[in-house]
Amino acid sequence: MDKLQEVIKYLKGKKVRFADAREHLFREREIYTEDTRVERITEQNVSGVGIKVLYENGWGYASTSAKDPASLKKAADKALALARHADKAADGRVELAAEPKHVAKFATKIKEDPFELEISGAVGALLEAGELSLKGKDVIKANAYLVLRNMRKKYANTEDSLIETDVFTVLPEIQATARANGEVKSRHYWPAPMNAGYEYFRGIDFKTNARRIAAEAREHCFAPSCETGPTTLVLDPEHLSLTMHESVGHPTELDRVLGYEESCAGRSFATLDKLNKFKYGSDIVNLVADNTLEGGLASCGYDDEGVECQKWHIVKDGVLSGYGVNRELAHKLKMTRANGTTRATKYSDVPITRMPNLYLAPGKKPLSFEELIADTEDGIYIEGMGSFSIDQMRLNMQFGGDAFWAIKKGKLAGMLKNVTYNAISYEFWRNCDAIADERAFRRAGFITCGKGDPMQAAQMTHGASPARFRNIMVRRAK
Ligand SMILES: [Zn+2]
Repeated sequence: MDKLQEVIKYLKGKKVRFADAREHLFREREIYTEDTRVERITEQNVSGVGIKVLYENGWGYASTSAKDPASLKKAADKALALARHADKAADGRVELAAEPKHVAKFATKIKEDPFELEISGAVGALLEAGELSLKGKDVIKANAYLVLRNMRKKYANTEDSLIETDVFTVLPEIQATARANGEVKSRHYWPAPMNAGYEYFRGIDFKTNARRIAAEAREHCFAPSCETGPTTLVLDPEHLSLTMHESVGHPTELDRVLGYEESCAGRSFATLDKLNKFKYGSDIVNLVADNTLEGGLASCGYDDEGVECQKWHIVKDGVLSGYGVNRELAHKLKMTRANGTTRATKYSDVPITRMPNLYLAPGKKPLSFEELIADTEDGIYIEGMGSFSIDQMRLNMQFGGDAFWAIKKGKLAGMLKNVTYNAISYEFWRNCDAIADERAFRRAGFITCGKGDPMQAAQMTHGASPARFRNIMVRRAK
């Protein structure tokens, strides 16, 4: 019998209602280059076992970096003792949604394991991108960045599930900074972060993009400021990924909605009374949660509650239609099953409800990006992410961007600078009147989504086709 199953058997003998044990390896390599030198390379290799116990109506969690049977038993005893204490203060019965027994394996499809390769190849590619950016006129700084991750887990619970997962993640980024015309402006190229092998990194065209961002950083220095006032925005997939993350993804985490999570990034306006009624966006807005998305950063086969990853709508035809739901809170929605989006970042972290892969579904009518711009008389096109803020109920939001272009008479007409816009989150999505079709769909995503206390950084993919939003208040940043 596996050592995790041994500890589960031990806890079953202690009359727990539920328990699971998760052996969890978190390996991460980060490479930063600055100009033509390596700025730093860091490596984390953290592993251990986390054990969660439900005793009557109290939860306990304990973890250990030592994986021998005696240490596991000690951690199990500690989790059990904590659960017994918690039970004394329990407020009502814990209802745990059922989940079928899974004896399964899941692995990211990779060709090359990045941790098996010499680091020099990746360093060389980043430095070459930096060199090319620095050849651009007035470019004063080039930065490049690569994160490689491997999360390997083994999971066992009192329902006899035994699940092994092996997930690889690649996240690259390059940036150029120019100084000209009394301004300093940066521009980045951020290929979609993917759950993939090293072959994904090899396939990225840094050369063309290093030259492009160098030129655009300089052009940005000469761009006029935008006008303040309501206007039409066309937003690119990378920009939209941050907008949907903050105004849709976080407000629809059910623990946040119900007040179980508040300390990091607040609560939510998207309360349960609004489910299947509230107009979150216009009729063409469909926001899809999909932890089965191949290569998605949150695609891990099974979550850290032993629940199979799933696909569901958060917003369907403009209406709020779902949340990210764990096993404990599913009954609040009369759901018979959680939707498989509870994750922990490291072995010592308690699994919590995390944002799934979340994307804006492409428009159903044929519409290319070029046709979308041509159909827009006047407005601003924004690419990439910049500064942002949103209030503690996830209503009043403000976003910048990485680069901005004026749209005049259906054409991109030169860059703008100092563009920010603000909106109430659901009014923003209600003002979406066109979405390009699937040909223009691109992915983006995060590996640094902070939640919990102590904070855990989780990863998830976003995606969209460029989309148009009417009557959005644009302000000139100072
Ligand atoms: Zn986040």
